Amino acid sequence: TTLSGSSDGATIYEPQKAVVIGAGPVGSLAALYFAKGGWQVTVYELRGDLRNPENRSLNFTKSINLAISERGINGLRTVDPELTESILEEAIPMHGRMIHDKKGRQSSQKYDVHKRFIRSIDRSGLNERLLDELDRMNNVELKFNHSLKSLSLEKNEAVFERRLGSGDYENVRVQADLFIGADGAHSQTRRQMMKYVRLNYSQEYIDSLWCEFTIPPHPETGDFQLDPNHLHIWPRQKFMFIALPNQDRSFTCTLFMPEDMFKDIVGPEALLGFFRKEFPDVVSLAGEENLIGDYLKNQKLPLISLKCNPYHYRNKCVILGDASHAMVPFYGQGMNCGFEDVRVLWEHICNDATLTEALDNYTAERHPDCVVINDLAMNNYVEMRASVTSSSYLLKKHFQEF
Ligand code: FAD
Repeated sequence: TTLSGSSDGATIYEPQKAVVIGAGPVGSLAALYFAKGGWQVTVYELRGDLRNPENRSLNFTKSINLAISERGINGLRTVDPELTESILEEAIPMHGRMIHDKKGRQSSQKYDVHKRFIRSIDRSGLNERLLDELDRMNNVELKFNHSLKSLSLEKNEAVFERRLGSGDYENVRVQADLFIGADGAHSQTRRQMMKYVRLNYSQEYIDSLWCEFTIPPHPETGDFQLDPNHLHIWPRQKFMFIALPNQDRSFTCTLFMPEDMFKDIVGPEALLGFFRKEFPDVVSLAGEENLIGDYLKNQKLPLISLKCNPYHYRNKCVILGDASHAMVPFYGQGMNCGFEDVRVLWEHICNDATLTEALDNYTAERHPDCVVINDLAMNNYVEMRASVTSSSYLLKKHFQEF
């Protein structure tokens, strides 16, 4: 940010203009940091406003709930402690894993001897709270239905395609001092930045796909059907089923499984046969009709892991969150890590002499950490679906979803 002297010698703060691309959790948090720091912020989001019930289904490629841990909470708390506390009131503590075997027996593995825990939180709810906060600030503008098409960083200009109510599109040209790309794994900002900087990039799709299911509240009592203070795992070596609690006393469950196995499950009978054999307790908890309905309705989605370097171009553009380091979800750290990106970036912007230095130092500090967490996430897939059942693991528990 620019600091300059006034006639009476006091320092005057000259806010600069930041354009944030993507109003997912990371883009929204980045906008909050920059806005609270006095920048003029405009957020451009490809989709319609998530808070409009008509647009809910647009978030279909993302899990309904997710695990938030200290890494992410710290990113939130640093910019707004009050908002963080109120967001966390809606989260459900998970003190450990609950391992379910094929006979329906459950065993708890606590995460931490110091009783620290992770929390299950509604993804849309969290995103909405951040957007509401941004709406309350008069130096922030939110622009939905705007898709980034190109960046001319030599001219500090972006072109967005705006979707009009009529279904037509118009191009919108926008100037900014800094472009912040938080536009997810398939980031257009990253693609555009590649024209300006020798950006190394690699990506990998793992063999497994994921599909979401629901375990509803108990039909008579309306209560949770499983202990809500655990992350439930049904590890089956090559695949696994997991469940995270929701405020409405349901559980959102995810089946992670190799693509070939999904292909073998054709039709309701095959699905029920598979569940009865592998996860018999889930059949009674979720109900046969629900299982079939969810399986037919919900997509089987891929999982990508990507790395790149650097994360910025001069003092003009930086990418954050999944745009810079999408990871497989088995360490529960994708969003958490994105929130940490924002906190670390802002620390550099506040403390380094110039914006160029801040972005240089951001990439230098952040890249090694993000590579490590990306690898840990990949390793934790083996951990969650297989190692948690081995006796040596139970004696020597050294990984945690923190
Ligand atoms: P996104 O959430 O992808 O948001 C990007 C936004 O940019 C979107 O709103 C998109 O519409 C918009 N956009 C895209 N292109 C453009 C464009 N051209 N112009 C304008 N806008 C654009 N993380 C955790 O921390 N804990 C978990 O427990 C966890 N569980 C997960 C479970 C699953 C099954 C999956 C798939 C992921 C999980 N993650 C978890 C990871 C987490 O979902 C991501 O890390 C997180 O969503 C990244 O946030 P983001 O804002 O960077 O990107």
